[in-house]
Amino acid sequence: TDDDNPSMPWFGMDIGGTLCKLVYFEPKGIPKSESVSEVETLRNIRRYLTKNSAYGKTGHRDTHLQMDNVEIRGIVGTLHFIRFPTSEMKNFLALAKYKGMATLVTTVCATGGGAYKFEDDFRREVNMKLAKFDEFDSLLKGLQYIDKNNPTECYYWSNPTDETKCAKVNYDFSSPYPFLIVNIGSGVSVLAVYSATNYKRISGTSIGGGTFLGLCCLLTGCNTFEEAIELAAEGDHTHVDKLVRDIYGGDYERFGLPGDLVASSFGQMNSRERRSKVSRQDLARATLVTITNNIGSIARMCAIQEKIDRVVFIGNFLRVNPIAMKLLAYAMDYWSKGTMKALFLEHEGYFGAVGCLLQFQE
Ligand code: ADP
Repeated sequence: TDDDNPSMPWFGMDIGGTLCKLVYFEPKGIPKSESVSEVETLRNIRRYLTKNSAYGKTGHRDTHLQMDNVEIRGIVGTLHFIRFPTSEMKNFLALAKYKGMATLVTTVCATGGGAYKFEDDFRREVNMKLAKFDEFDSLLKGLQYIDKNNPTECYYWSNPTDETKCAKVNYDFSSPYPFLIVNIGSGVSVLAVYSATNYKRISGTSIGGGTFLGLCCLLTGCNTFEEAIELAAEGDHTHVDKLVRDIYGGDYERFGLPGDLVASSFGQMNSRERRSKVSRQDLARATLVTITNNIGSIARMCAIQEKIDRVVFIGNFLRVNPIAMKLLAYAMDYWSKGTMKALFLEHEGYFGAVGCLLQFQE
């Protein structure tokens, strides 16, 4: 029976430094409920959330990630994946109030730093309590649940340096342990996972997705992540970086360093003449390559230290960002001489929010 379950609607929220991720569970059919007005409000919420894919100017539902016919606490339904900038939290709360959610929802499961930062706003604006969960516990629970429910969740990039042969290949992640998680959000966290319940945060860096976006906006005048990625796709980082061949005239053979390897990120930009020739596209690409390679190298060192050979990269920095994924795939393979594998997951930024929803009890 569903009598022991918390009352609907079920949400999980991961309020990060840049993006707020909201997961909504839509049950198949109308669940039993006490009053007629509750059923009506529930219908309205469901209609609003599932009919739209855009909410205001800044909210989006990722329809391509939607998961149908999944079971949570004995109830079958659909998981919907919604995101909006954390800076829009005030507007989100106003909308929640307007849509009548505040009358029905008493508790929202939340994780991420914003679960602490915005706790008072939730109480004051919409009289909602936040049930707070740890972000890494949630992330792992969400990841395990989604991987179990989606046979095509996990993949890798084959032939990452050859544009004509490069392809996404499905990866069977059913016996995953041990593995490393590199979560690239605003900043980066690295977790070593030994079993379903045993993990530790082993490292991190402040040079992450937020750094890419921040520097890219400064250098190119762009205003959104999508714009930054589009610029980068058209740019050439070798106009910006100093390569081994710029220093050696070719390969540095003795230590096996190829000529096209970056020796110094942004290393050409001390020259006024070079600066006058670079495009915004080149600068965006160089920023992307710099940040991504730095994360790849930290990931590799962590993997060596933990003696782990599978590294799962997640976080919204990888959203619509095949350049970064392929670069990570190549770098992991090349520098480990083929002993390490970079893996990716389709629901890249949503695991914390899902894990949060799964932990909901009332
Ligand atoms: P956090 O929990 O810190 O907000 P996320 O995993 O949500 O982390 O990733 C945030 C990063 O994702 C940003 O720093 C940026 O690099 C990238 N990103 C992807 N899509 C967007 C977007 N629509 N708006 C802003 N940043 C985005």
